[in-house]
Amino acid sequence: MLKIHNVYKSFNNTKVQEKVLENINLEIETASVLGLAGPSGSGKSTLLRCIQKLENIDSGSIVCDGRVCFMFQDFQLFPHMTVEQNLTYAPSLKNKDKKEDYKEQAKSMLQTLGIESKANEYPRTLSGGEKQRVALARSLMISPDILLCDEPTSGLDIASSEDVVSLLKSVNKLGVTLIIASHDLDFLLKISDRIVLLKNGSIVMDIAPREHTDSLDKLKGYY
Ligand code: ADP
Ligand code: MG
Repeated sequence: MLKIHNVYKSFNNTKVQEKVLENINLEIETASVLGLAGPSGSGKSTLLRCIQKLENIDSGSIVCDGRVCFMFQDFQLFPHMTVEQNLTYAPSLKNKDKKEDYKEQAKSMLQTLGIESKANEYPRTLSGGEKQRVALARSLMISPDILLCDEPTSGLDIASSEDVVSLLKSVNKLGVTLIIASHDLDFLLKISDRIVLLKNGSIVMDIAPREHTDSLDKLKGYY
């Protein structure tokens, strides 16, 4: 369970305080899929960054019991490391003795995602869809309870986006809570149990799209 209570966040741009998140309240159930929708600049990435504690909040609280992992929009793979090294690096930092175990784990993770043949390649040689899979595999290496995904389909072609839907669904089936920020409402509708719409830093809609099909037009109207 993740609880976000009365969160406010602003950035100090020049002399004006720019409010980016305002009065955000959310309780997110374990093992559910929350889609964070909203036009560009509405505060989606900032909210994810606050959950991951990459940003400080001005007031309010964010409480979660479990490991949180962030999958960045531009993947942020380590360019000087092979795919396998990208996967084993973080876990090995904590536990050097287990390096061989992590290598095995990385191999089976890559196999599950259908990219085992890329284990010894460097990120620059991979397609966008393959990089996305590597980023996902790397996130899963630390067995997160909550996975934050920022625009996971951006820069992917339609076929790769469809892959992302099924990949993320299978990750969710393992019991991982997903919070997915995307400006692509059609993508979010395919995967989310619940969609929260942000506009100018505030939540303006909060619906379960499979139950509230009558609200979908209103949701689409916000774009
Ligand atoms: P979204 O992900 O929905 O496109 P963001 O969370 O990236 O929106 O941005 C929301 C607002 O916060 C924008 O107005 C953006 O310019 C501003 N913002 C985001 N990050 C920073 C930052 N580090 N410094 C100042 N302003 C920022
Ligand atoms: Mg963003």
